Amino acid sequence: MNALVATNRNFKLAARLLGLDSKLERSLLIPFREIKVECTIPKDDGTLASFVGFRIQHDNARGPMKGGIRYHPEVDPDEVNALAQLMTWKTAVANIPYGGAKGGIGCSPGDLSVSELERLTRVFTQKIHDLIGIHADVPAPDMGTGPQVDLVQILSLKLASCVVKQTMAWILDEYSKFHGYSPAVVTGKPIDLGGSLGRDAATGRGVLFAAEALLNEHGKTIAGQRFAIQGFGNVGSWAAQLITEKGGKIVAVSDVTGAIKNTNGIDIPSLLKHAKEHRGVKGFHGGDPIDPNSILVEDCDILIPAALGGVINRENANDIKAKFIVEAANHPTDPEADEILSKKGVIILPDIYANSGGVTVSYFEWVQNIQGFMWEEEKVNHELKTYMTKGFKDVKEMCQTHNCDLRMGAFTLGVNRVARATVLRGWEA
Ligand code: GLU
Repeated sequence: MNALVATNRNFKLAARLLGLDSKLERSLLIPFREIKVECTIPKDDGTLASFVGFRIQHDNARGPMKGGIRYHPEVDPDEVNALAQLMTWKTAVANIPYGGAKGGIGCSPGDLSVSELERLTRVFTQKIHDLIGIHADVPAPDMGTGPQVDLVQILSLKLASCVVKQTMAWILDEYSKFHGYSPAVVTGKPIDLGGSLGRDAATGRGVLFAAEALLNEHGKTIAGQRFAIQGFGNVGSWAAQLITEKGGKIVAVSDVTGAIKNTNGIDIPSLLKHAKEHRGVKGFHGGDPIDPNSILVEDCDILIPAALGGVINRENANDIKAKFIVEAANHPTDPEADEILSKKGVIILPDIYANSGGVTVSYFEWVQNIQGFMWEEEKVNHELKTYMTKGFKDVKEMCQTHNCDLRMGAFTLGVNRVARATVLRGWEA
């Protein structure tokens, strides 16, 4: 199912449960502003390459719009629109003072050189710089735009021989040319430029806290549970590491290069080393290779989709063996799959709560930039745990009030907070 159709469907179900006025419902659904720009860059070989970039600003009733920028070949306006809307509900569920936005460029970052990526990012920033801002719209990393920096290599200027990709630093630099030095205009920056300690691990750490809260509610702990993780990028790899530290067993992992399985538990530190050296999990000897498509239906207790959207659908939902699904990715589960899984008794912790750790620590980063004061990592992690624990409690309360599942608990919580702010601010022109 199309990502936007699926997201709108969940929003509308929540609006019905809340009894929202149909006019208010419509106004909450329509994005605040949709930006589409052409980005042409000269390639290293002298030829031209043109890309389409998007920034969809969904809602700002509760504060500046907030959300990542994605570089991926499948970026399209409907998907960015859905992701922007999800950011609005996500920041409201986390109860941080933001609205929602999302951006993206349809490109294959792996096929572009570092200097081509830098040119593309700078052109994109030039086209949107007057529509983003510290109190307007604050971008952040997403798929294909996370930090991959080797400072030793940068300092010795061996740029061509290493991956030096720091999209947020380029956005900050380009934006600052127009508006003066403005570290708070993006989050997920390198620490040297005002990034927050703990931001890199934040989404994965939030997934751990979310999984812990859910398991505790069912009288279980992370220790001894078997996890399967789809995706071994920033979110999946941090989640795997932190879950292992808590005694959880990662029995299957996949990424774009391949998938592996080990019923005794995969040695995650060794897999991390392998994935860094070989740019993926493929070829790792500490497990048996499996078909990457089968990762979602592997035998495990908890399934963590941490890659693309729409992966759990009516084709595979019936075969899922996990008892719990913790959505580290954005919209990994189609509404049709939701229905099938609910009948099977599978409990799903939805994306707009489960992966909110990233944007929550983005908020801490923005606060630190505005205060001009840096927090210790312990404080960041402690505050994150407080927000994630409170978020779970708030979602559960909505589940009780509306007699609904966790997805609708999270949607009603988020939509209700945004609706209240919208009504309080009023419409008088
Ligand atoms: N891209 C992340 C998300 O989907 C983080 C957004 C942010 O930090 O603003 O939640």
